Amino acid sequence: MSVPPACVQVAVFAPVRRLFDYLPPPGGFACDPRGCRVRVPFGRGERMGIVVAVAASTPDHPGMKSVFALLDDEPVLDPTLLALARWAAAYYCHPPGEVFAALMPVELRRGAALRSLREPAYALTDAGRTALAGGSRLGPRQRTLLTAAAAGPLRRAELDTVSFDVSRVLAGLCARTWLAPVALDVAPAMPAPGVGFLALNDAQRVALDALLAARGHFAVHLLQGVTGSGKTEVYLHAARAVLAAGRQVLMLIPEIGLSEQLVERFRQRFGAAAAVLHSELSERERALVWARARSGDVGIVLGTRSAVWTPLPALGLIVVDEEHDPAFKQEEGFRYSARDVAVMRARDAAVPVVLGTATPSLESEYNARRGRYHRLVLPQRAGGAAAPTLLGVDVRGMKLLGGLGDTLCTAIDERLARGEQTLLFLNRRGYAPVRMCHACGHIAQCSRCDAHLVLHQARERLICHHCGNEQRLDASREACCPTPDWFTLGVGTEQVEAVLRERFPGARVLRIDRDTMRRKGALERAYAAVRDRRVDVLVGTQMLAKGHDFPGVTLVGVVDADSRLFAVDFRAGERFAQTLLQVAGRAGRAEAPGLVLVQTHHPSHPLLQLVLRHDYDAFAAAALAERDDAGLPPCVALAVVRAEALDSHAPQRFLHRLRTALPAAAEVDIAGPVPAAMEKRAGRYRAVLMLSSRRRAALARMLDRLLAIGDSLPERRRVRWHVDVDPQEAA
Ligand code: ADP
Ligand code: ZN
Repeated sequence: MSVPPACVQVAVFAPVRRLFDYLPPPGGFACDPRGCRVRVPFGRGERMGIVVAVAASTPDHPGMKSVFALLDDEPVLDPTLLALARWAAAYYCHPPGEVFAALMPVELRRGAALRSLREPAYALTDAGRTALAGGSRLGPRQRTLLTAAAAGPLRRAELDTVSFDVSRVLAGLCARTWLAPVALDVAPAMPAPGVGFLALNDAQRVALDALLAARGHFAVHLLQGVTGSGKTEVYLHAARAVLAAGRQVLMLIPEIGLSEQLVERFRQRFGAAAAVLHSELSERERALVWARARSGDVGIVLGTRSAVWTPLPALGLIVVDEEHDPAFKQEEGFRYSARDVAVMRARDAAVPVVLGTATPSLESEYNARRGRYHRLVLPQRAGGAAAPTLLGVDVRGMKLLGGLGDTLCTAIDERLARGEQTLLFLNRRGYAPVRMCHACGHIAQCSRCDAHLVLHQARERLICHHCGNEQRLDASREACCPTPDWFTLGVGTEQVEAVLRERFPGARVLRIDRDTMRRKGALERAYAAVRDRRVDVLVGTQMLAKGHDFPGVTLVGVVDADSRLFAVDFRAGERFAQTLLQVAGRAGRAEAPGLVLVQTHHPSHPLLQLVLRHDYDAFAAAALAERDDAGLPPCVALAVVRAEALDSHAPQRFLHRLRTALPAAAEVDIAGPVPAAMEKRAGRYRAVLMLSSRRRAALARMLDRLLAIGDSLPERRRVRWHVDVDPQEAA
């Protein structure tokens, strides 16, 4: 630090949408404070924060306070992450301090020293040496570890590859003081030139070459290929090349539970050089991965959404797999899109980023069409399997048994006879979405939401899928009239399962949804059962559409296409097409081509027609034209302001005040306030205001004004409100 700063700008860990200036602590800073944590006076108390900038001169600030203490002697966050987080806070209209807090391990947020995150290692003590030399009786596992430790301290991460459960044995050896934990400076653990890499086909080779040619500068590649076309193999090859050049790879995936096969492939190829960040890790384990990545000790970080914030000093490549997946958008608190942050991060770091998918998000499609993203196509399934045949099944007038028509049932019979597997997809849990009384017309409603209660027969409950509200099924509670006579409308996975068991008595049926897969490990066991052919018919939700390959499945049935074709959400059509093609991708292999039957009452629906023709590109073109006409993303930049309160009027009143206080701007359209699509949810009333513009900069300027006004309106005290930039839903 050439000139000691006269003042520092701090992102204080508090829900306030601005930075704060502080004077240096009395003795000055011992190092350049940028990126370091500080403790500062705040209000009547004190808070932690991150120094984001320093200034050589003091702004004219009467009563400016001094930093209490500098907590680090090296930056926790490097300048690129610092800049990225500041950009994200501004872009997503979120308090910068909360953004910074969110991207650090919990322990650091609570004030733990950076050093405490050093990876533990275990060194052989003198007592341990004596024990090993024959002074004590040792179990075979103890001997293995002590012998290994005799050659040098054991690093925890390396031990994970040992065949037995290391933790217990280690704890035992430490308890006997034969091993002692030591702090070890981490050394880079780069992989052996992995085994198992497949020779790429021509299309894969072209894609890989394009990626590698882009090394060292920013470029966005949209890698488009159906499930099984070999995208993952391309990522693996690219990662190998990047690691060999001494750089790091960040790989984002939508959900760990559903990506287990992919994670496994990275583990096999790269061993301990690949670290996985997922929600089942303890805070401590997450923090250790974070620290190893930060010190350059991990080559590849694989993780979900929040992994996009992992410090990677030698970042060389970012991969976002299944880039269209809505899971990349955080829907509460700090509402950011990890995919979009990844693209920004790649730009800042001047590295290439790959967005992989079979069905690009319309955002990425739009960018590719405008030449901002570079499209790479893998046209065929790598294993040589043919694409499945998609057929619409017109169920108008057809007798439906628990949602299943004759055509579908006959097709299932054929599969059963041939010993092949069937997968039925229905994105609705429970037995039936509506329960009505035949005598009086009463419908079971959630008392806290504008929503029907869903019947869960097996659990004997009525459950609200929006707020979790549950009611036991027992006659005394549900007396809507003197002679209640309940019947149901609509079909959920639980009912399909019941009907399957009845209609196909010999078949082994398995249901996969959030109700049946609650327990830890349940999903893995289910996948194993399908793989080992202990299941004939699978029925399930979205969970089935993602990630996993089911080689034995030759028939896919989409039980109800209509519910998604006619949903209100403006992205419903896009999601439908993506899910349908994704589920279709589960069917068929080289020796047994797949068939996908899509049940619908609207077989000539134009959107459905395009999807059934397997023509995602044509679908995307049509959908983009519609979005353009309607003034919806990605053809415009959209932000929604949402307000909610227990009082039914307060949200609209607040938004109305906000709207009238906003300056007019020709380039920004403002719509609303209107009640949210589901006005009442979990007991709170909700309203929205929508702002859109063909020019993002104009929208951003308007949002700045809006935040300032909103934070000063007296009506804000009666509501909770936030801004959602690039929202998933408009209302
Ligand atoms: P995606 O990620 O697009 O679903 P994968 O990379 O998982 O595709 O490949 C699908 C299947 O094809 C896998 O079983 C994989 O091992 C195999 N595969 C991928 N690339 C090749 C290749 N070049 N040669 C032979 N098999 C391949
Ligand atoms: Zn509810």
